[in-house]
Amino acid sequence: MDKQQYKFSDKIVDCYFDADFTFLEQLVSKENTVIITDDNIASLYTERFKGWKVIAIKHGEKHKQQSTVDHVIDQLIEIKADRETIIVGIGGGVITDIVGYTASVYMRGVKFAFVPTTILAMVDAAVGGKNGVDVGVYKNLIGTIKHPEFLLYDYSFFKTLPEEEWTNGFAEIIKHACIKDAEMFTMLEDNLLIDFQHAPEKIADLIKRNVEIKYKVVANDEFETGERKLLNFGHTLGHAIENIYQLPHGSAISIGMVAACRISEELNDFSLAERDKVIDLFKKYNLPVNLPSRETELAAVWVVLLMDKKKSGDTMNFILLNKIGAAIVKPIPLDQLKNLFNQVLL
Ligand code: ADP
Ligand code: ZN
Repeated sequence: MDKQQYKFSDKIVDCYFDADFTFLEQLVSKENTVIITDDNIASLYTERFKGWKVIAIKHGEKHKQQSTVDHVIDQLIEIKADRETIIVGIGGGVITDIVGYTASVYMRGVKFAFVPTTILAMVDAAVGGKNGVDVGVYKNLIGTIKHPEFLLYDYSFFKTLPEEEWTNGFAEIIKHACIKDAEMFTMLEDNLLIDFQHAPEKIADLIKRNVEIKYKVVANDEFETGERKLLNFGHTLGHAIENIYQLPHGSAISIGMVAACRISEELNDFSLAERDKVIDLFKKYNLPVNLPSRETELAAVWVVLLMDKKKSGDTMNFILLNKIGAAIVKPIPLDQLKNLFNQVLL
């Protein structure tokens, strides 16, 4: 096991990499803990969760809604969870979002921690303290910012992780490479997904490297006034198409990042060669680079996009690349952005 401490303005988060799930018993008592997971994970890991109080919600992004939070709160009341209770979310990004948000509002806030079980949750969703739910098609429209007490990474959960969840998680890893780490970009180019799936040490190193990238960016700008915005690379368009086209998050942001690269080439002197390198890397990790259908719902996409939290007045704070490993925030007037989307998406 490898323990790291991540310091934020109001909290130090203990992170246990390469840990065993049973270590949870040394961090919290079974008596005071409620595990929240989803039905898939609950049925795959019944043995592991024996003796713990478990609430299982339905799996899938479509349940990342306030109604699920209300349902979880009913069950917390039934279990008589109180201010001493710690809630441990075990699962992917849907679980970390629901748990971080519910724990932040239940009784005005109880402690919580995460055991992320997907690549995406490990490198992204569990780190940084942003948690929330979707409202209809609007992604993460309501939520809270609060850090967990600790993160426990047990890579044995990968044994059951479906292939598409591996792909999904690599979209965020490639995002980190594009905005912050050209060297990691090259390393990803030199490998295939299968090389990581079959090499526990390699995936463990990659996950830690990505947690550290995310941690550094967040710690430098906890309230998203500057650098943290870069983590939204590909996400403005990505979020708008995700729920309209019912795409996995990784696929949606992959398409979003490709569009952002094309816009970077138009507005920002991002070279054609580098743009193609990014596109090739997504393809290499089985991620889509174009919208699934050209008879697009572009009008609907635009309506959702206008609710994006990065919009400020008549401009969108859009993330572009200068080169691989170096991103910038560029305010783009909405009219111009609409034209650019029509150009790069159709
Ligand atoms: P994310 O937002 O991290 O992509 P979700 O929370 O939507 O992920 O989880 C994706 C799907 O993968 C869900 O159906 C969930 O039940 C399932 N899942 C998560 N972790 C595992 C795992 N380690 N093994 C098997 N299935 C998993
Ligand atoms: Zn994302």
